[in-house]
Amino acid sequence: MSAAASPERSSLSIRAAIPPNNLTELGRDAMRALVADLGQPAYRADQLFRWVFQKGARDLDAMTNVPKTLRAQLREAGYGVGRVTVGRVAESIDSTRKLSIKLQDGGVVETVLIPMEEGQFTQCLSSQLGCALDCKFCYTGTLGLSRHLTAGEIVDQVIVARAALPPGARVTHLVYMGMGEPLHNFDGVVDSLGPICDPDGLGYSLRKVTVSTSGLVPQIERLGKTAPVNLALSLNASNDAVRDAIMPVNKRYPLASLMKALREYPLPPRRKLTIEYVLLGGVNDADAHARELAVLLRGLPVRINLIPWNPFSGTGFERPADEQVRAFQQILKDRDYTVTVRTTKGLDIDAACGQLGERPDA
Ligand code: SF4
Repeated sequence: MSAAASPERSSLSIRAAIPPNNLTELGRDAMRALVADLGQPAYRADQLFRWVFQKGARDLDAMTNVPKTLRAQLREAGYGVGRVTVGRVAESIDSTRKLSIKLQDGGVVETVLIPMEEGQFTQCLSSQLGCALDCKFCYTGTLGLSRHLTAGEIVDQVIVARAALPPGARVTHLVYMGMGEPLHNFDGVVDSLGPICDPDGLGYSLRKVTVSTSGLVPQIERLGKTAPVNLALSLNASNDAVRDAIMPVNKRYPLASLMKALREYPLPPRRKLTIEYVLLGGVNDADAHARELAVLLRGLPVRINLIPWNPFSGTGFERPADEQVRAFQQILKDRDYTVTVRTTKGLDIDAACGQLGERPDA
């Protein structure tokens, strides 16, 4: 079985060649343990936590209410603050912003700020450098997996992106839909949710956070038990034959097991699962596929997001005709599904869904 079809094998053994001691990697409990080890009172840990995650301090010396002695102890122990820096920022004509995020070992991932309502953005976070899942329609999948991002590298994307927002704007929603399969990096993603959802950290409610997956069934079950955030499934097919052909992960976790995991996922009250369906012209966009999809999803609390495929060179796929997208949507609507067609944002800067990853000529 290929690496793409057995992601667990390579998962947690991939470690970053980056300095180990960094406050941005520490959750609240780890921060308290560190401060206790240094012989300081517990409230100092809470101060540090707020400086790192709420105020986004990038330097120990910026933490003015933390005593110099503690700052000196941290420095002596080799602790830094901040895991990533922003490289190039590309702005689309529709105001989508794509940020190159530089990692401390020289790797580069991308995060995207997507404009929503006035002054509000959704941020799309990367969870891996590359991706092992090899979905055939996705540019990131062509890169292969270099490594998982650490929890600190994920959280820090949110902290550093603040500076790239227009004045007065803020990120109101976070989606783990950038580079990588978030649930392949299960521990990194779950650990990142600590500071992201802590009121003394970044302060996002679990309801404002969505984790996307290509369908790693055991990890969907674990996520539901650990941190029941909103879940988005990148489904993209209405039967196993089509899904096997475009998403190798389906050979390991076919649709029957996936639908079972979705049925059992403990959604927050009044929430729906998001079903992402990339429409590939002539592959999965026929009327018959729409009808089959309606049957497959029957009884599940879902909203369906249709995404006409975003082209990148070197694949045999085609973007479906607009009339076929509308016909597909109508068939599902006629069967009482809530269906939106995702407005393609950031297409001109390769920031749209499935396009993330450094190009050789970038
Ligand atoms: S669609 Fe997601 S899971 Fe599939 S290859 Fe791309 S980044 Fe990986």
